Amino acid sequence: MTVHFPFQNTYAALPDNFFARVAPTPVTSPRLVKLNRPLALHLRLDPDRLDSPEGAEILAGKRLPEGADPIAMAYAGHQFGHFVPQLGDGRAILLGEVIDADGVRRDIQLKGSGPTPFSRRGDGRAALGPVLREYIVSEAMAALGIPTTRSLAAVVTGENVIRETPLPGAVLTRVASSHIRVGTFQYFAARSDVAGVRRLADHVIARHYPDLAGSERPYHALLDAVIARQAALVAQWLLVGFIHGVMNTDNTSISGETIDYGPCAFMDQYDPAAVFSSIDEMGRYAYGNQPRIALWNLTRFAECLLPLFADDQEKAIAEAQSALGRFAEEFDAAYQAGLRRKLGLFTARDEDPELANGLLKAMAENAADFTLTFRRLSDAAADAAGDAEVQSLFADPAAFDAWAVRWRQRLAAEPHDAVARQAAMRAVNPAFIPRNHQVEAIIRAAVDRNDFAPFEELLTVLANPYQDQPAFARYMAPPAQHERVLQTFCGT
Ligand code: AMP
Ligand code: MG
Repeated sequence: MTVHFPFQNTYAALPDNFFARVAPTPVTSPRLVKLNRPLALHLRLDPDRLDSPEGAEILAGKRLPEGADPIAMAYAGHQFGHFVPQLGDGRAILLGEVIDADGVRRDIQLKGSGPTPFSRRGDGRAALGPVLREYIVSEAMAALGIPTTRSLAAVVTGENVIRETPLPGAVLTRVASSHIRVGTFQYFAARSDVAGVRRLADHVIARHYPDLAGSERPYHALLDAVIARQAALVAQWLLVGFIHGVMNTDNTSISGETIDYGPCAFMDQYDPAAVFSSIDEMGRYAYGNQPRIALWNLTRFAECLLPLFADDQEKAIAEAQSALGRFAEEFDAAYQAGLRRKLGLFTARDEDPELANGLLKAMAENAADFTLTFRRLSDAAADAAGDAEVQSLFADPAAFDAWAVRWRQRLAAEPHDAVARQAAMRAVNPAFIPRNHQVEAIIRAAVDRNDFAPFEELLTVLANPYQDQPAFARYMAPPAQHERVLQTFCGT
């Protein structure tokens, strides 16, 4: 019996200029190194069938499953602020869409499966290191409760890819609620193809925002909805210390999922200016810049929709501007509410943003670890004896003490008891994040020593980020000085 994917493809039914039909390029000897069994079940796929030589061939692009309609999607995009009218899936191929157990349509895409008409000078391939990085960070994000693409499988191809040196090649099976990006809209807008923009917008509304279909001005409502989801998403990133690294418009999903894990990283010490990506020399995509960049990307999205808004261009621009004007408010509301939860506040007061800022400022000035500060604060909230553990994260422990006095005064005005507060705080302040030095270590083990045990272990830990897991306490630790990873690489 063959592996069965219950495909129901809609993107491949769009007009021909939306994509190129192209099959994956077979590889010599694929080997499955990771299968996400719970996700397979959720997608209504049979994990036992996938976990077979035939499954490995499918997940490596060597064999096409029945019902697949493989395509490379066309898109454009602003990369570091510069517009490129044609990017597209240069090393990814969409096999098709399935409906998951929740009734949600999901793309099943192979990343690293060979060249496409959009490959330009690239080889269409991916190296094992970046595939494992994307696997682990996307699954960690999902476990943290942040909208994201998922990873269904990783296979090694048995072939090398040539980067600075030859590296083992790999294919990631990525699952997304769709791979439609701001850059997909830009592709048609840049060609003055208003019918294409409209067709895409209709597809997106039907797929991601079905409630808007009946609204009086569906395209305006679409802009509002995408703005709201991006504002909420970036707020969640900031609240866990995540830095995307390459927030180009082609890496900005219309569904509001985190997409395209390249040189992304979680910060250890709190620093709003933190940048990890080796290609981000100007700090355009620094941690603290992410809300501003999201708005910039959404502005590019709004520009694409203008022809659908009103015949009168000035009126269309004014409408788009007023929608974009709500981003800051929506982002702030989500971010401040998240900070309140991190501090154990159930109610809102005008002075709360100032209180939260006071802590963040002290953390930045004292190189405090972002994740551990909030995690330990959860215990200090129940018992002031926990203060010492928080203090020790600050270069000058007194910096925390001064702030803690204000915090406790504020907590005294809260209706909940300390035990409830502690539990609520522990549910939003993770103990475990994919720390960069740990991600690098599991990549080295897998790539240099063909040892995937550390990768498996890290995945296990990150599956329950809000639980203490004493047996894995070492994964909570920030890097020692010599372990610190200061740069991450795209790995294209
Ligand atoms: P990314 O930086 O992964 O978001 O990719 C930006 C663009 O470069 C997209 O159009 C990719 O499809 C393309 N690209 C990245 N790596 C490769 C590769 N190895 N071969 C072909 N195209 C690539
Ligand atoms: Mg990309």
